[in-house]
Amino acid sequence: MTNTGELKAFADSITAATSPFRNYLSDLHRKYLPLTDGAVADYIPELALADPSWFGVAVATVDGQVFDVGDCDRTFTIQSISKAFVYGLALEDNGRDYVNSKVGVEPTGEAFNAIVLDETTNRPYNPMVNAGAIATADLIKGKDGTERLKRMLDMFRRYTGRDHDINVPVFLSEKSTGNRNRAIAYLMLNFGMVGDRIDETLDLYFQQCSILVNARDLSLMAATLANGGVNPITGDRALDQRYVQDVVSIMLTCGMYDSSGDWAYRVGMPAKSGVGGGITAVSPGKLGIGTFSPPLDAKGNSLRGIQVCQQLSQEFGLHPFNVAAPPKDLATWIKGGEGLDSW
Ligand code: GLN
Repeated sequence: MTNTGELKAFADSITAATSPFRNYLSDLHRKYLPLTDGAVADYIPELALADPSWFGVAVATVDGQVFDVGDCDRTFTIQSISKAFVYGLALEDNGRDYVNSKVGVEPTGEAFNAIVLDETTNRPYNPMVNAGAIATADLIKGKDGTERLKRMLDMFRRYTGRDHDINVPVFLSEKSTGNRNRAIAYLMLNFGMVGDRIDETLDLYFQQCSILVNARDLSLMAATLANGGVNPITGDRALDQRYVQDVVSIMLTCGMYDSSGDWAYRVGMPAKSGVGGGITAVSPGKLGIGTFSPPLDAKGNSLRGIQVCQQLSQEFGLHPFNVAAPPKDLATWIKGGEGLDSW
């Protein structure tokens, strides 16, 4: 131990390992592990290889404590979760007005890969469906595909505090099977909604979906948004504070595919899911949740992840419109001490 920062990190790691909240998460993990519903995504062979029993739950607080149980070090492809974060980078690169002129902010109620644009403006509806995500990737600046990808990877490093790789076989499979995304992109090119380096942009989109993360990373990404855009452990700014509200709002209205309304009603935390089995959920000013479990429901959201987020939201009062005292007080559970029920 050489300085107070290291001492604090050490003290926090002891708290995280022994806190009642960690035991609470272990119970939650044990409770939902036996769920056997849902199906692992199989539109490309690499995703179909996932073991349905993989299950990790991580929670990172805005003061930099991380609690993780289960498979939180196992990496998987970020898939659609990337869309929310790349939207933030597009806002930083181009400003809100320009981005708004290219991608809307309206939920669709349609599947994420629907071939549909707003009839009056020709814009894709929002950045969380594939059309909007491809238009958003188009807005990422850089002299070529390599530089644009590097800028994305640098951004993810600022959110998670570690370097990220691409899963190359997943990227190549996404690319070789991605005709529907190609069709969407060329439709947008026809309407002048994307630039003419569209093949480079499609590669960039397939690469961003193939970035490897784990549940712990997803908790830190959400905690960074919950903390106004600053990673609570490294202190690095990952997103300009001006755009945090934009990204988090779209996560609430559009982040869980065409069950975003149901999610807002039951869970309320702005969140984003991906077909790799990840969910990242933000409780502004408090914490971020990252879950990983590959079996998905019919809309493409991780089944165990939904259950975990719903229970955490209800028991700790994490729904932003909840005004009643929650059954459990978060600070007490994290620190331990007085007031813990039935332990
Ligand atoms: N790579 C996937 C696609 O574009 C992303 C899917 C997802 O996570 N919903 O189809």
